[in-house]
Amino acid sequence: MGEKTDNKGKALKVDSHTIFYGVLGDPIRHSKSPVMIGRAFREAGVNAVYGAFHVRLDQLEEAVRGVRALGFRGVNVTIPHKVNVMPYLDELDETAKAAGAVNTIVNEDGTLIGYNTDGIGYVRSLKEESGVSLAGARILMLGAGGAARGVAHALAAERPERIVIANRSVAKAEELAESVGNRARCEGIGWEGIDHIIGSVDLIVNTTPIGMHPNAEAIPVDPSRIRAGTVVSDLVYNPMKTKLLREAETRGAKAHGGLGMLVFQGAYAFEYWTGLPAPVEAMRAEVLAAFEAKENVR
Ligand code: NAP
Repeated sequence: MGEKTDNKGKALKVDSHTIFYGVLGDPIRHSKSPVMIGRAFREAGVNAVYGAFHVRLDQLEEAVRGVRALGFRGVNVTIPHKVNVMPYLDELDETAKAAGAVNTIVNEDGTLIGYNTDGIGYVRSLKEESGVSLAGARILMLGAGGAARGVAHALAAERPERIVIANRSVAKAEELAESVGNRARCEGIGWEGIDHIIGSVDLIVNTTPIGMHPNAEAIPVDPSRIRAGTVVSDLVYNPMKTKLLREAETRGAKAHGGLGMLVFQGAYAFEYWTGLPAPVEAMRAEVLAAFEAKENVR
């Protein structure tokens, strides 16, 4: 392990008090979480290290036992383990139950508690970066996959007037809308229904991978139907400004990209683990630098 040096040139020593953290996933080498969370620890002066662990599905239970046995304070869980990890935990927070998935585990003296910070991270990013007012808003969500679940539940908690979830497989949209329950008026529709409502919403959220590298010229909707003044938000962060966002901007809409969700889901995890306010801007700068260092972002 040895000695590490942070951006400001201060020495960070790994010693017998260093607290361990990490991210479990398969694949994992593309993850920006180690540089982002590592920077947060340095900024906050926390004696901790955060590693990336390549864990196959058949090793997941053992890896979670290792978290407990070795006294890791916490881990993030990423694709494809966010659902499969749930039975191995001792408790689930409401955010994890609502999303049906866990992306953050906190180890409270051997009790492993699962959280989902994706949805709340998304909403915090959306509010801070776009200034959108969600109370009373009419929202169109595109897609009903893993990321959409947490986002739908977190948006519902903001008291919108209505959320319409459009998905290629309509049954998944209906099931997700139903799971939101009485927290907000929510309805699932098929993809072909988008054109009827896209011009009358305040916020459009793309939760599909359409437009993501290497298919950066793909766009999920006909942009000519987007009304000026609409906030258009894309979970995709590679590229940071997708074709959907570029086209929306030329029509007078306000664009919100997916980078902030990545930063704020990590910020919430950092706050749950340490009890300290996350150094969000430093974390964002670190992720941006990591992306810029790569030719193709990912
Ligand atoms: P997922 O579980 O595979 O869900 C994908 C969703 O997109 C499904 O609803 C799927 O519809 C729909 N879809 C995919 N291709 C489509 C197409 N060609 N036409 C219409 N619909 C299509 O994926 P996910 O984990 O939710 O991730 C979705 C995106 O969010 C990815 O780009 C991911 O990188 C991004 N994301 C970003 C963050 C962040 O921090 N910014 C966090 C999480 C995810 P069907 O149900 O019909 O298949």
